[in-house]
Amino acid sequence: MSKKIILAIDGPAGSGKSTVAKIISEKLGFLYLDTGAMYRAITYYAIENQIVDDVNKIKEAVKKIKIDLNFESGVTRVILNNKDVTDKIRTPEVNSKVSEVSVIPEVRKELVRMQKEIGLTNNLVTEGRDTTTVVFPDADVKIFLTASIDERAKRRYKEFLERAEKISLEDTKKNLEKRDNIDSNRVISPLQKADDAIEIDTTNLSIDEEVNLILEKISEKLNISHCN
Ligand code: C5P
Repeated sequence: MSKKIILAIDGPAGSGKSTVAKIISEKLGFLYLDTGAMYRAITYYAIENQIVDDVNKIKEAVKKIKIDLNFESGVTRVILNNKDVTDKIRTPEVNSKVSEVSVIPEVRKELVRMQKEIGLTNNLVTEGRDTTTVVFPDADVKIFLTASIDERAKRRYKEFLERAEKISLEDTKKNLEKRDNIDSNRVISPLQKADDAIEIDTTNLSIDEEVNLILEKISEKLNISHCN
């Protein structure tokens, strides 16, 4: 089996990772692997089963939880124990707990194992917090996206408004700051720029500009061109 091409993008919430990763994966015909969705699925399970504040119960649960990712329809459908939870994992409630659940080493170990396995058999555009450092340290292209906290809060707030979630811009910003803090300061796999990652500040870039810039970097590194 030939080695698969892995394009990995890390960065904080709202830096534009998932939007561009989706578009780029479609343009290149690669699979889009949203690693954050997997951490969100575990968190949703823990909230639903009222164990979200009990680390030992989460550790136990993670051994039994079945997460399937269905990559077919352009969106990654997240299937938790045979139930589609794709829309349920993006609520403010899941957002407020996901970073605490993601700190648990047993959770990370299991999800990283699954992510590496997917990369063995698929060309990937993947994104998260540790995809360039821990999951795919040998990725063919590594990108680190950033944007100002105010711009990231605005983007996330717009998404909440579109889904009619009840949360203020101020609370959205507070949640992002809290997540940034936990994600960047945890002991295992903190969010950090890999030495060999290309850093792009997306604060003043449109989605098209961001996509084109990343595609340019990919072409420079890999000598592949996109089809549309
Ligand atoms: O990217 P997204 O906002 O969906 O990620 C949700 C949370 O999942 C992050 O704030 C982080 O706590 C966790 N996460 C992680 N490692 C990843 C992806 C996400 O710890 N590779």
